[in-house]
Amino acid sequence: MDEPNATFAVDAERLSALGVGEEDALTPLDGVDNAEVLARAAELNAAYRDASPADVLRAALDAFPGRIALVSSFGAESAVLLHMAARVDPSVTVLFIDTGLLFGQTLDYRRQLSKQLGLADVCVLTPSPEDNATLDPMNVLWKSDTDACCGFRKVAPLDRVVAGYDAWITGRKRFHGGDRLRLPVFEAVDGQVKVNPLANMSKAALDAYAVEHELPPHPLVAQGYPSLGCWPCTSPVADGADVRAGRWAGSEKTECGIHVARAKPARPRAF
Ligand code: SF4
Repeated sequence: MDEPNATFAVDAERLSALGVGEEDALTPLDGVDNAEVLARAAELNAAYRDASPADVLRAALDAFPGRIALVSSFGAESAVLLHMAARVDPSVTVLFIDTGLLFGQTLDYRRQLSKQLGLADVCVLTPSPEDNATLDPMNVLWKSDTDACCGFRKVAPLDRVVAGYDAWITGRKRFHGGDRLRLPVFEAVDGQVKVNPLANMSKAALDAYAVEHELPPHPLVAQGYPSLGCWPCTSPVADGADVRAGRWAGSEKTECGIHVARAKPARPRAF
């Protein structure tokens, strides 16, 4: 095996105590001190794994002042996390990916909810026009290659911007199942810290929070959509079905790809 790099050598004892493996710490990431990122995520997770979502949010915003953004789809369950974030810091940067194929109701909901919650910095990310013209000029790629379509419409626009932050906040929950069943509250992915304040929250607790705070539901929830994405790839589901059963229904695909670990290029340290 190669000699450990200087960073790992310095942090080996600390990482070992946190249960972080040597191979993880040595993952090559251009311009990123991955051992430090792994250690920070592990320490924060140990401290806040059983904390309330609001306390997790506060800890995350304190740990990465000005260097953290919240990513939201303004979908069926988004209002809870956005409401919590607005209470902790309404100036937090919120990143919203408009793929160009979202339901019109989602675009309206994004505008209305942002205003209602007083979110002051909602940034709309879009696919690059060049990619759209080259890869999907007729906007029908979703019919033949959903991974490629999500790649240029969702993953690439987010990667371009989120790469400028040290950490980002997601709305994922364990009750969504699949790869999310073991979701930690803080995790290190590709040289960044990802924060999942709602990881521990049950569907019942989520719904109760929305009722308690009179949060407006996404208008399509009442029409049978418990999870929302682009209109070509989202179907209504029967009562009691899995929350994400209507996403890419009838195919093997379960995730758009923004939460799939991938090596990132060297990223700027300020944004
Ligand atoms: S969800 Fe469907 S339409 Fe939207 S980007 Fe992915 S494949 Fe394309």
